[in-house]
Amino acid sequence: MVSLSLALAREARENFDEAPFVGTLRYFASIDSGTCHVPGINVKASFYERELKKLGFKVTLTYDPKYGNNLSAVLEGKGSVSMGLIGHLDTVYPVGAAEQFPPRIEGSMLYGLGVDDMHGGNLLMLEALRFLLKRGCRNFKKIVVILDNDEEQVSMHSRPWIQELLKKHQIDVGLEFESQEEMMGNGIHITDARRALHVYDLTVFGQAGHAGLGEGVDALRELVAKLEALWAMEAQYPGISVNSTNVGAGLGISHNITPAEATAKISIRSTTREEHGTIPGIVREIAETPIKVSGTQAELKLRFHSSPPYHATPLIKRLAGLGEAEARKLGLPYSATAKKGTSDANTFAELGIPVLGSLGPIGGGDHEAANEHMLLGDPLRDKFAFVVGMIARICQEWAV
Ligand SMILES: [Zn+2]
Repeated sequence: MVSLSLALAREARENFDEAPFVGTLRYFASIDSGTCHVPGINVKASFYERELKKLGFKVTLTYDPKYGNNLSAVLEGKGSVSMGLIGHLDTVYPVGAAEQFPPRIEGSMLYGLGVDDMHGGNLLMLEALRFLLKRGCRNFKKIVVILDNDEEQVSMHSRPWIQELLKKHQIDVGLEFESQEEMMGNGIHITDARRALHVYDLTVFGQAGHAGLGEGVDALRELVAKLEALWAMEAQYPGISVNSTNVGAGLGISHNITPAEATAKISIRSTTREEHGTIPGIVREIAETPIKVSGTQAELKLRFHSSPPYHATPLIKRLAGLGEAEARKLGLPYSATAKKGTSDANTFAELGIPVLGSLGPIGGGDHEAANEHMLLGDPLRDKFAFVVGMIARICQEWAV
């Protein structure tokens, strides 16, 4: 006997209408909507407000003057499982990028700002819900759609609001619609674990002086020593990786002046909760204690941090098992693996809610304006069918 979820997934694969899907994505990709670009964020929030209302959702827009709208939408059904489906409305690109890099189709790929991260995933979520609801699928207790406005800044602003929603609606299961990495190959390759992130600004202060006379207190030399100490964390903790950018000192001053100020941005990823918890103390100690140049002082600012890393718990493995069953029946290769990046899925896991990530379309080139793209044709159609089948299967089989 063909299961209901498989029948729906097959029908979804046959009926997926790519042209309007691509049309909407091209429209989104032509609008600047980097984090904090309120007009662009709000255009997208309004689109989802309108479309989700058509499906019967009760939609709430929560406005913030700096970040724009967050969207939450709730639909009550007749089943027993409450599902949280999450995406984000912001991209990483500055104002003006949309004009410079207009969306385009090349072969079987759609190129455009944010098509992969993550307009494609948001829209796939919406269209899967539209498909299921039109066919009378109601055997869920609640579906809660969450579209936040600052995931590209690790959801520092929206995370308390997300957590409140997850608790208020007693969400049992989470699905996160970030894209699936092209390098994983064909089929369905979802995410069952993610790392976490801390991002800091570090400034070291010394004192200017005549370098030739050995005067001054060299802030750059101390910054380099601190960076080396931070990089050394990688040897001590196998799950930690450190990246340093925006390193600067002595710009615009003469070669014979000792640099009085040196700055760097540091991002640190961790794989275990223990590492995640250890990072702030170690970084603070490295920042506060002069290593090579006495007389220096440092200022450390935590720019943002994600929720802690998470691993594939037994409940996440069970959820991934439902995905495997659905993919196999659709005849698609399948894997559930850890991903090195962080996402809003971490926030579900932090509250103990089993969550699967990378439910969005397949693509690549994220955060590279000229290269961000999404695969069209069968990969997109298959992923759409999988998501439809997966939601239907969770409704049927996730007893709580
Ligand atoms: Zn994303």
